[in-house]
Amino acid sequence: MANTEPYSVWTVEALILMPLGFYMMWSVALRRSGVMIWLAFPFIFLGAFQIVLLYLFGNSVIATDMFTNILTTNPGEAGELLGNIYPAVVIVCAMYLPLLWLAAREIGLKRYISRTTRMNVGLTGAAIFAVGLLALWPAYSVSEERHVLRDEIFPLNAFYNLGLSGSEFRKVHYFEKTSEGFSFEPVRTAEAPGREVYIYIIGEAARAMNWQLYGYDRETNPELARIDDLVVFRDMLTQSNTTHKSVPLILSSVRTDEHEELFRRKGLPALFNEAGFDTWFISNQSPQGAMIDNLAHDARHLIYIRSPRYDMQLLEEVRKVLEASDSQKLLIILHCYGSHFSYHQRYPREFAHFKPDADVAISRQNREMLVNAYDNSIRYTDHFLAETIAYLRSLKDTSSALLYCADHGEDLIDDERDRFLHASPTTTAYQLYVASLAWFSDAYRRNFPEKVAAAMANETAPATTHALFHTMADMASIQGRFISHEASLVSPEYDRTAPRRYLNDHNEAVPYMKTGLAPQDIEVFRKFSVEL
Ligand SMILES: [Zn+2]
Repeated sequence: MANTEPYSVWTVEALILMPLGFYMMWSVALRRSGVMIWLAFPFIFLGAFQIVLLYLFGNSVIATDMFTNILTTNPGEAGELLGNIYPAVVIVCAMYLPLLWLAAREIGLKRYISRTTRMNVGLTGAAIFAVGLLALWPAYSVSEERHVLRDEIFPLNAFYNLGLSGSEFRKVHYFEKTSEGFSFEPVRTAEAPGREVYIYIIGEAARAMNWQLYGYDRETNPELARIDDLVVFRDMLTQSNTTHKSVPLILSSVRTDEHEELFRRKGLPALFNEAGFDTWFISNQSPQGAMIDNLAHDARHLIYIRSPRYDMQLLEEVRKVLEASDSQKLLIILHCYGSHFSYHQRYPREFAHFKPDADVAISRQNREMLVNAYDNSIRYTDHFLAETIAYLRSLKDTSSALLYCADHGEDLIDDERDRFLHASPTTTAYQLYVASLAWFSDAYRRNFPEKVAAAMANETAPATTHALFHTMADMASIQGRFISHEASLVSPEYDRTAPRRYLNDHNEAVPYMKTGLAPQDIEVFRKFSVEL
């Protein structure tokens, strides 16, 4: 970490010497050092985990989100990922297994270390630790954030993040209690005659860069590109690069700088319930044991799709719902599997347009195949969205509106940083810049022309995923507590000057420039005319 992080020279000194001294003292705390090595298993686990993450992301300590991800990822996804980073797993095994084996042998042979060795190692350890401790003083004075011990010294920072993750989990667990009795007190300011259908589609890991609609030079949107009444939001940034944080923010009215409110306010399904809608949450991901589930459970109907979980199955469910239901006012939220790794498994074989697209390990040599598979998954999303729009268009006299946005983007070994996947503690342009679009039926356009006009006028407006909740509420002409026109992309009052903020790993709202972006990212944003 002394090599991978942008730490001051003093921090580097402290972060090498303090743990080294500590481990030396630890190893001789008992006469049987084998026992102490096994007692250090939590440290070894964190060390191993950290090495795997450095292999994967190239930098950063184990994030709070990483711990949460372990608890919220299903075994299948974890297996898909681990199978692809086996070099890191091999390194970790080669480093730690012999150590643990030796320690076990020492215990078995009942070996003891001599008193002199214990004194010598212990005192040397104490001296090294003390020198490391001294380096903290200048380290704090040159640190901008003033959190050297908490943020920069491994494994203290990892333990801090573990604790924060635990505290978040408690809050998620008690959500039902802390949000009890909450009401948006909504009113509908307008209503279309007849049936109204609102479809809110949460995409997965779909970065704007690989969409033809955003200028990508591959045909990844052959179907959407032919739809001329599509509204494409061209300046949409996600507020978090991890699913379990981003999706709740997408479903919630809270801003990133009022994160605690997330546990007190209900989400979009609850809002539409209160406004008299029949609400559906249809998910193509498994229940996560996280905040997403809490907000989704408020929908009157909740469906989890079964394997193979291709996103077109979501449309089949929508058809069934609209054909069987006699409700006149409906909200249907679809949670896609989209372009989640492993990309190759997100689309049926007949959608393998870019080839070869084999299911391969993550590495630079395999980049072409990985990108082909990723682009195929975007092309499949294109098909799914276009078919959903075609279906809505076919419904006679139905006032319908659709809003789509991805929960975050994805790194695809785009530059010399070799970064891959998402959910890393520091962001990239590829993780932040997401695809988002809206579509309105003819009946909706007749009933609410001013909203459609505002959406078109806001195509290039700077936005974050914070806008989505408010846009969805406004699309359905719902007003109430915590619902803001300034955050609605279908309102002429949309505030283009509002500062854009990201929810970082410690749940603090920060400007995008402070999320660990590199010069390469700034260059990418410039290319897409996104101003941070
Ligand atoms: Zn996601």
